[in-house]
Amino acid sequence: MLRIAIQAKGRLNEESLTLFREIGIDIDDAKRKYMSRAANFPVEMLYLRDDDIPGVVANGSANLGIVGYNEVVEKGYDVKVEEKLGFGGCRLSLAIPKNEEYSGPAYFKGRKIATSYPKILRKFLDDNGVEATIEVITGSVEIAPAAGIADAIFDIVSSGSTLVANNLKEVEVVLESEAVLISAGKLSAEDEAALAEIRFRLESARISRGKKYILMNLPESALEEAVRILPAMRSPTVMPLAAKGWCSLHSVVDNADLWDKVRQLKAIGAEGILVLNVDKIIL
Ligand code: ATP
Ligand code: MG
Repeated sequence: MLRIAIQAKGRLNEESLTLFREIGIDIDDAKRKYMSRAANFPVEMLYLRDDDIPGVVANGSANLGIVGYNEVVEKGYDVKVEEKLGFGGCRLSLAIPKNEEYSGPAYFKGRKIATSYPKILRKFLDDNGVEATIEVITGSVEIAPAAGIADAIFDIVSSGSTLVANNLKEVEVVLESEAVLISAGKLSAEDEAALAEIRFRLESARISRGKKYILMNLPESALEEAVRILPAMRSPTVMPLAAKGWCSLHSVVDNADLWDKVRQLKAIGAEGILVLNVDKIIL
């Protein structure tokens, strides 16, 4: 039985559970429980603080973990990133009071920086030959400059609105992060097979994300042009229509490009365009 450590509550909990549901692994939404088992797959979930996840994976108490890459790097355990999961995106950045002039990393020389990520920050400072004092605080790092605790902060940024609200500006991005699936050590043959199946399903989920199925009626004379507009996985499906000189064209597009493609297809005579959600794509 594969044991997977995920965050018990917090920003990654919901999306970790959603991801398992998306790949057909049904887990009780047992946020307050310590452990729960999947009904239809040989895995059990261990619910922990995110800080503890790299450690329990490294020492073998769990076979896999889902945690922010920022925590993996900060904790520094010998674990392997199996997959990037495409959620929990953020960055670890240095920020200073917004009215200060920033001249580059030398700005931090002799200053005090508040953070919950002292190891990553120390490495950045060392790499840039800057001597600064690190003040470790575990929460509300963003208030440190206004509270007189530090001159600057090194913290997680996603939209940047927390920095703006605290009159700070981001001056250095040190690490880009997202949720990752981590592992360590050897698995039994049975667990290895379960992991391979999970990775196969994650790949399918990754490919399907943000995709739409599109179909339309098209004059046959416009077919060549339409195929250029809609390069499908192999090539679009074309089906004859009862009306002479017309066909039906089916393909898959990225949601991001959808309206651009629709405009181009209409311009070459496409009619009756249908756009449908894609549940799974398995290559
Ligand atoms: P825990 O109680 O498990 O220790 P926590 O308070 O340390 O939780 P959360 O705030 O839930 O952690 O964040 C978990 C992870 O979510 C972060 O380590 C980071 O990888 C990711 N994340 C994405 N966006 C943000 C954000 N805007 N602020 C904080 N974390 C973010
Ligand atoms: Mg934490």
